[in-house]
Amino acid sequence: MKHYTYLVENPSGLAEFLASKEIITEVAKAKSILVQIFSAQTVPAWIKCISEIITDNLPTAVLVGSTTVGEIIDGRTFVKSTVVSFSFFEFTTLVPLLAECHENDEEIVGNILGKAISASGSDIAGVLLLATPISINVTDLLNGLVRRIGNYPVFGGGAADYGAMHNSLILLGTQLLNKGAVAVVFLGNELHIDIYSYLGWLPLSKEMTITEADGKFVKTVDGESAFNVYHRYLNISNDVNFDLDVLAFPFLIERDGQKLARVPISVEEDGSLQFVADVRTGEKFKVGYGNPTTIIHDAKEIQAIMRAFMPDAVFLYTCGCRRFLMQEEVELETLPFQEIAPTVGFYTYGEFFGQNNNLHLLNSAMVAVGMREGQHARRTTYPKKQWADVQISQVDDPYVNKHIRVISHLMHFINIVTSELEQVNSELELLSITDKLTQIYNRVKLDSVLNHEINYSTRYRSDFSVILIDIDHFKQVNDVHGHNTGDAVLIFMAQILKENIRNSDILGRWGGEEFLIILPQTNAQQAFELAEKIRKTVESAKFPVVNRKTISVGVTQYCSDDSVIELIERADRGLYEAKNTGRNKVVLIITEIE
Ligand code: GH3
Ligand code: MG
Ligand code: MG
Repeated sequence: MKHYTYLVENPSGLAEFLASKEIITEVAKAKSILVQIFSAQTVPAWIKCISEIITDNLPTAVLVGSTTVGEIIDGRTFVKSTVVSFSFFEFTTLVPLLAECHENDEEIVGNILGKAISASGSDIAGVLLLATPISINVTDLLNGLVRRIGNYPVFGGGAADYGAMHNSLILLGTQLLNKGAVAVVFLGNELHIDIYSYLGWLPLSKEMTITEADGKFVKTVDGESAFNVYHRYLNISNDVNFDLDVLAFPFLIERDGQKLARVPISVEEDGSLQFVADVRTGEKFKVGYGNPTTIIHDAKEIQAIMRAFMPDAVFLYTCGCRRFLMQEEVELETLPFQEIAPTVGFYTYGEFFGQNNNLHLLNSAMVAVGMREGQHARRTTYPKKQWADVQISQVDDPYVNKHIRVISHLMHFINIVTSELEQVNSELELLSITDKLTQIYNRVKLDSVLNHEINYSTRYRSDFSVILIDIDHFKQVNDVHGHNTGDAVLIFMAQILKENIRNSDILGRWGGEEFLIILPQTNAQQAFELAEKIRKTVESAKFPVVNRKTISVGVTQYCSDDSVIELIERADRGLYEAKNTGRNKVVLIITEIE
């Protein structure tokens, strides 16, 4: 595999480059050629012109391309440019595929594209994927695709358009597409593709919950309009700059053990946020910000692994927001790849990363792809000196990279402050729901669990029951042995109860010498049996000072339309009956269940 890059300044220059001896020699030797155009320019006439020159000169090449929000050539970041990359393969075959989307058919199109990919050959080494995330639902497309594809790397990026938000394009040959995907399947056993992704974004805010989401829209966060998150914490307004202002501050979500970033692109009239990738109701997130130190650290780790892989070429599909965050210093991340192999790529609106039968639409991330034909390096080391002139200078300038250093320190500061506050908050929260004497839950927590259980049981039609416990003749303990002994008995009682329930049961102090146990997924009979077991355990326990103590117990099961008050009143009736019929007793109150 041989790799060349070309920065297009004018069409005739490109034509001359393609007619050069070097390129003609490579074309003659190559089994297949992949050409990728990364263009800041979204005017179709320009892209068409470039692609026609390429197809005229390299009629056998597979030509794909995308519009961008930043272009990478030889590890350097350019803006407002057009970059062309040429990969000449010695052993590999390429199969180009084009999938156009129409209204709401992304999943079906993804499925068909997936089928076509699988049918391309039995020796698939990987798949390059370009798509248009602004104009279609790429999550659905990938969902359709992932069901059909096998265990090979899938990588690429979403077309971007420098913030215009409706001009993105991808291409195959001379055909331009503004809604859909283009794939290139790499076939052959000699081709080795290693893909890596990393984020470098760190949580800034406290944890919040997406309380209502629909596809790519988040309607509410913690019950409030989703836009409030950006307005309250970052003072971002709903104006024409919204997408740029939020670009560096994605939602950071943990999904299936993976940290995902989700960047909103617009605010709807009702305060919902629209994202370019899927978000789910119930997911917890923190607002994040890129930490340049982490980014560069992660990049170095990946670069070390990739160096050992010895690729012939490196392709970078990296989020536009990384350029936005790092500004001039963004090359600290991209340029070291160039020391490994010729590096080319573009800044995207979404990165595609698939491995082990998973396929993710990433935001804010870097997807780095190393490609090599044949066994480890026929060459020994990459001719580093060739690129020496593009190294970031290491001169002793005290101001160099100051911007990202300041950001890194501020990120650290906010992180520490946030985690200290979170620590204090969680201690306070625990205090607010704990009974001081017995150290079990208090009434506040019991009330909230009861409400939660009622909602849950109503929604899922599941059982739950409660056990209300009152110590018999407790007043006597105080009267005879004093208040301190009374306290000790309460503490001892709480301990016995705790030891006799399951982890999923909730035990709390309901009042003075009364305790409540909430039993999720438990019917009346099971609750009665547990209550009886507890009663016997208490009866035979040896309490401090007073020795023996007994309890009376009321048990009941939740039935539909019960309020908390109605449910507890029923348990209380059971308790009252137990007291009136001799104490040291469990009484179950059954209701007719519809
Ligand atoms: P019964 O068998 O009918 O339940 O009789 P009882 O004596 O247990 O019931 P009663 O409601 O008359 O007495 C409850 C006593 O519990 C009265 C109150 O002073 C005592 N008590 C409530 N909270 C505490 C506490 O935190 N510590 C101590 N030591 N006593 C408490
Ligand atoms: Mg009582
Ligand atoms: Mg009592």
